[in-house]
Amino acid sequence: MSADLGWDLVIDWIRCDGYGLCGDLVPDIIGLDDWRYPLVHPGPIPNDRRHEVQRAVDCCPMRALKLVRAGSMPRR
Ligand code: SF4
Repeated sequence: MSADLGWDLVIDWIRCDGYGLCGDLVPDIIGLDDWRYPLVHPGPIPNDRRHEVQRAVDCCPMRALKLVRAGSMPRR
């Protein structure tokens, strides 16, 4: 059985328009820069925060956010 590592938040920078709504919803996980573009805090998102972050994903007007299992996407 593999360990549960939590979740990673993936941002599609082509789609993101910097509305900043995601950071307003979960500011301790998604910070915002001076132009209101998201800055995701390092490290996986724990399971007990998943629903809050999923709400931010669902509210993104540009559909620029996606939650994936931690470690399932290559890091850039
Ligand atoms: S809500 Fe979506 S479009 Fe707005 S800053 Fe966050 S990721 Fe970008």
